[in-house]
Amino acid sequence: MLVLVLNPGSSSLKYAVWQFDSGNLKASGQEVLRGAVERIGESEVTDHAVALESIVKELSSLLGERKLEAIGHRVVHGGRFTGPVLIDSEVIRYLELLNPLAPLHNVPAVLCIHAATRTWPQVSQVAVFDTSFHRTLPEHVWRYALPQGLCRQYGIRRYGFHGISVEHVGQRAARMLGIPWEKFDGVIAHLGNGASVTAVHGGQSVDTSMGFTPLEGLVMGTRSGDVDPGILIFLLRQGLCAEELDNLLNRDSGLKALAGDNDMRTITTSAATGDKDAQLALETAAHRLVRYIGGYHVTCGGANAIVLTGGIGENSAPFRTRVLEKLAPLGVKIDPVVNETVVGLKEARVVSAPESSIPVLVVPTDEQAAIAKATVAVVSTQ
Ligand code: AMP
Repeated sequence: MLVLVLNPGSSSLKYAVWQFDSGNLKASGQEVLRGAVERIGESEVTDHAVALESIVKELSSLLGERKLEAIGHRVVHGGRFTGPVLIDSEVIRYLELLNPLAPLHNVPAVLCIHAATRTWPQVSQVAVFDTSFHRTLPEHVWRYALPQGLCRQYGIRRYGFHGISVEHVGQRAARMLGIPWEKFDGVIAHLGNGASVTAVHGGQSVDTSMGFTPLEGLVMGTRSGDVDPGILIFLLRQGLCAEELDNLLNRDSGLKALAGDNDMRTITTSAATGDKDAQLALETAAHRLVRYIGGYHVTCGGANAIVLTGGIGENSAPFRTRVLEKLAPLGVKIDPVVNETVVGLKEARVVSAPESSIPVLVVPTDEQAAIAKATVAVVSTQ
């Protein structure tokens, strides 16, 4: 079975094709090819539907006579869905209702679903959600201290995101440590342009830093993370409208607001050459992250491991050092030599010293692999 995976980001569309043995779909499958269209909206690629057109051309020349049998879409916000679903018109209508809750991600995902339906009307499509892994959050964690009627009316609750990545790297980390996933307790930080931390207890999500939308929690590339909600009321009274607040918090905040740039490489270089704003941005982001890791170490019942992933977690040795040094009161100790060597690796590595109270693992994420497997699991039960 040949499966196409589409993973739309705010300005990119990653894709992969996976081959599964039709006689044994549970077997792990193999990646046939992968690619990405970047800078969507900034170039002649005006939106994700146009990006998909160029991918279709590429695929038809690469795959020749081989036919796609399923398509798996990464959808960030799944609302009430607690696991992957086969896409039909009802599902699409529901996902469209969720668009305002994850404007950077759900809007392009829905565009891709429509475009894929036009291109491959006969092929089964599956939506795999970042929210699903967090279905196990206990009520005292998912509930906000807001009036219940209001929350019920609008579906306001903590959903949590990055679940596809967190589950994938968590399971890899558990395997590496020889701990069954159902017994794994840990703190998993997905640090990319979007960033979140999750507390895992017994292989289940028990707390996570993103909430009703992917805005809450850590300082991110262009997102603010936690702010006093009173600031929003204040700014509304100053005359800012909802659209302006949305742009402010989703696109003009975070590292970009603090350092003038949202690329960790640029910020790290600027900080090393004495740029005070860049230094402050790194310190602010690390401080917020450490606050969450410390809290979640308690929440998960004492972490077997701290797991780092995402573009920054996998590649930025200086940022890892800054964060892990702040965790010294927990007995965490980095191995500075190994840490420096862990940049852009395919395999997972331990970057803590042997005497560290908690092992720290860098585990490369592979959302496409997880989506391909989830897609096959859904399609094969039809
Ligand atoms: P992601 O959203 O997971 O693709 O991660 C994007 C973030 O990873 C950006 O802040 C990049 O600057 C950062 N990143 C990617 N490669 C590196 C690298 N080699 N060193 C430091 N940061 C990196």
